[in-house]
Amino acid sequence: MQLVIIAGGKGTRLGLKDIPKPMALIDDKPLLEHQIELAKKYDINEIFILSGHLSNVITDYFGDGAKFGVKIHHIVEQYPLGTAGCVKLLEGKIKDRFMVFYGDVVMDFDLKSFEEFDLRHQNSVGTTLVHPNDHPYDSDLIEIDKDNKVTRVIPKPHDDGKYYQNLVNAAVYIFSTKIFDYIEDGVSQDFGKNILPKIVKQGGELYAYKTPEFIKDMGTVDRFEVIKNDFKSGKIARLNKKNKRPCIFIDRDGVINKNMDNKPTTEEFELLDGVADAVKKINSTDYLTVVVTNQPMIAKGFVSFDEVENTHKKMETLLGEKGAFLNGIYYCPHHPERGFDGEIPELKIDCECRKPKAGMLYQAQKDLNIDLENSWIIGDSERDLLAGKNAGCKTVYISDKVSDNADYYAKDLLSAVEKIL
Ligand SMILES: [Mg+2]
Ligand SMILES: [Zn+2]
Repeated sequence: MQLVIIAGGKGTRLGLKDIPKPMALIDDKPLLEHQIELAKKYDINEIFILSGHLSNVITDYFGDGAKFGVKIHHIVEQYPLGTAGCVKLLEGKIKDRFMVFYGDVVMDFDLKSFEEFDLRHQNSVGTTLVHPNDHPYDSDLIEIDKDNKVTRVIPKPHDDGKYYQNLVNAAVYIFSTKIFDYIEDGVSQDFGKNILPKIVKQGGELYAYKTPEFIKDMGTVDRFEVIKNDFKSGKIARLNKKNKRPCIFIDRDGVINKNMDNKPTTEEFELLDGVADAVKKINSTDYLTVVVTNQPMIAKGFVSFDEVENTHKKMETLLGEKGAFLNGIYYCPHHPERGFDGEIPELKIDCECRKPKAGMLYQAQKDLNIDLENSWIIGDSERDLLAGKNAGCKTVYISDKVSDNADYYAKDLLSAVEKIL
């Protein structure tokens, strides 16, 4: 696979004057060089660098790439074309699916896994990498269906009073050459703002690959300082999906929100005190945060899949407003006992996902490469504790009751998280 790096950034907000943004140093090495090393690690050896502002700094430093063990082609835009407009310059030069990085994004992720996902949809226009972040309200958001196909692109600013999944476009892509049909010649256009929405509107197939790995743009001086520290501490490399990560699983009803037994609607859903702070605390560590919840009201016919999904969008939106995010939400819609009016027969089964079984935890483990042995579950019922125990996790019981399956007790989510950390 070939890689295209869009390296036209100015870095005004970082106070850079003599070098373009992708040449900003992280641990004495330009960000662009870190990106090339990452690509090389995954056997990507041919790279197109698209530059504009102070392009000579980039061409002088990298030359033909021989010094770095790769083959580099430089393309210099004559005037700013935007992220997509400049990629159009490569039409005819690229013959196969190719990966795209933005030269101002600091990252370390498993490129192989991204490529494998993309190859499952060989006829698609491409795949965009998405993740939750701590400021979804001012990010470009992606909506997907259950097969991870993109159904909507929501550029910022968003409509007020609506609820969204916290799925942010991370500006890392794999495209087929079909992408060139969507980009106009010689006009400034951006992938996030113009091209992705256009693909979806015109019925083109676009997929989203979701990952919790480290992918962040340098943005401001403050953000860049944090990123440099994350690099030094090894955090950026540590979050690569090839490494297992511990997780804190959280039950929903009674832990994140008040029990809504009588009226399980989006409208009724509110976060309990301290929940956003608790999740934010977890987000600042290496722990993943995953909600696992039984929603038998779906099987019983009291609430629809759409309503539950919308409730989860509200949960993510409310958390996001406070800078907190979840890496996954898993729910079991089943219920084993038949014989109620209005029930949905095909959901009335003895499934593998309903807690106390550990099916949802195992699914998350598979999706996110979780280290279950060093993971925790926080819940307010015996079922939660048992699900955790069944998966080999430690448990925190939010209850006044006593349980043989509780390793620790806490009064609410925040104190539970403080105990774990
Ligand atoms: Mg509960
Ligand atoms: Zn189930």
